[in-house]
Amino acid sequence: MPGTLFIVTAPSGAGKTTMVSGLLERDPLVRLSVSYTTRAPRAGEVDGQHYHFVDVPTFRALRDKGEFLEWAEVHNNYYGTSKVWLEQQITAGKDILLEIDWQGAQQVRKVFPKAVGVFIMPPSLEELERRLRGRGTDSEDVIARRVLGARGEMRHVAEFDYVIINEELPAALEDLVAVVRASRLRYANQEARKPEFFHYLEQD
Ligand code: 5GP
Repeated sequence: MPGTLFIVTAPSGAGKTTMVSGLLERDPLVRLSVSYTTRAPRAGEVDGQHYHFVDVPTFRALRDKGEFLEWAEVHNNYYGTSKVWLEQQITAGKDILLEIDWQGAQQVRKVFPKAVGVFIMPPSLEELERRLRGRGTDSEDVIARRVLGARGEMRHVAEFDYVIINEELPAALEDLVAVVRASRLRYANQEARKPEFFHYLEQD
C-alpha cells in the first residue's frame, strides 16, 4: 500500500520546523525527507539530519543527473528533494513529510497529485518579523529578505488543502497532528489497508 505524502510549507519564522519536530515525536509513523541545500549550516544543524549540505557545483551535478524530484532557489540558495529515497519510501507504504517551499510544492503535486498540502501561517507579518529576529540566527539583511519573501509565499496559501495558523505552538501542533491522522482515515487509504473488508461488503 502506498504511503501518504505530506507537503508542509510556510514562510520561515512561522514555526514550521518546531511544529514538524513535534509531529515526528508524537507520530512515529511519519518520516521526514532530508533535503539537499547549498545554504551554510546554522548553529546546531547537523549534516544528514537537518539537511544534506552541499556546495553549488555538487548541487548542480545532482540536479543535472535527475536526482531531484523537485528543486528550487529560495533566498539565493538551492534546495532539492531526493527522488529515489522518496519513491522507495512511498512505495514501501511509509508516510513521508516534505518541508519545502511553494515552488517545490507545485512541482511535487504534479508527480503526486494525492499529496496532502499543509500551509502554516504566522498570525501576522509583524509577528513573523519579531520571531525571525528573536531566533538570532540570521543577519538583518537576511531577515529583511525573508519578510519580503514571506508575503510572496503566503500568496500561494490557496494551493494547499489545509491551513494552520500558528498563534500558540501547542494548539498549532495539535492541528498538524489532526491533519495527519485524518488523512490516514481517507477512504482510499482505509480501502488499501483492509481490502478484504471492503470487498466483503460488496458481495451481496
Ligand atoms: P531554511 O533555509 O530556513 O531551512 O529554508 C528556507 C526555505 O526553503 C523554506 O521555505 C523551506 O521550506 C524551503 N526548503 C527546504 N528544503 C527544500 C527543498 O528540498 N525543496 C524546496 N523547494 N524548498 C525547500
